[in-house]
Amino acid sequence: MSEHDWYDVLGVDPGATHAEIRAAYRRLARRYHPDSGAEEADPRRFQLVQEAWEVLSDPQRRAAYDRRRRRRRFRPRPLVPQPVRYTLVMSPYEASTGGTVEVPIPFGFHCSTCNGTGRAMWGPCEHCAGAGLVRRTAVFRVTVPAGVRHDQVLHYRVAKPVEVELLLRVAFRWPYP
Ligand SMILES: [Zn+2]
Repeated sequence: MSEHDWYDVLGVDPGATHAEIRAAYRRLARRYHPDSGAEEADPRRFQLVQEAWEVLSDPQRRAAYDRRRRRRRFRPRPLVPQPVRYTLVMSPYEASTGGTVEVPIPFGFHCSTCNGTGRAMWGPCEHCAGAGLVRRTAVFRVTVPAGVRHDQVLHYRVAKPVEVELLLRVAFRWPYP
């Protein structure tokens, strides 16, 4: 489920005090209020400002929201240097037709058990062995154009499942089939 960034909605810093949050809320609520008669009156934005205030003005709800927000901000990162270099072994026949290939790349994902700290109550996190990261393989699907040659290098920027720059070197499989 996606959730709005309530700090962005109110235009305040995540470290803002309660008084700063209240001041921002009052200012924006006046501005967007549907009955304000102002040019910026906007029921939808007004509703968002209300929701942001309900979450951020309540210390418990704000603390819970801060924890969720922090988790979301951690992005998976490749465990190999970027751009990622990968050798694609294919037969000359496959190269002549091209097609979609799958490229597996090891990634480090944020460990959700210890929230990336690597620590548990009584020692290192058992789930990630104290690394704060969990190793997983992300599979990228890229399209190889027809007619690539042996030793040709293809350059990709892939957005899914995570953003990565990829250099694929084509290597023909011997002997030819
Ligand atoms: Zn862990």
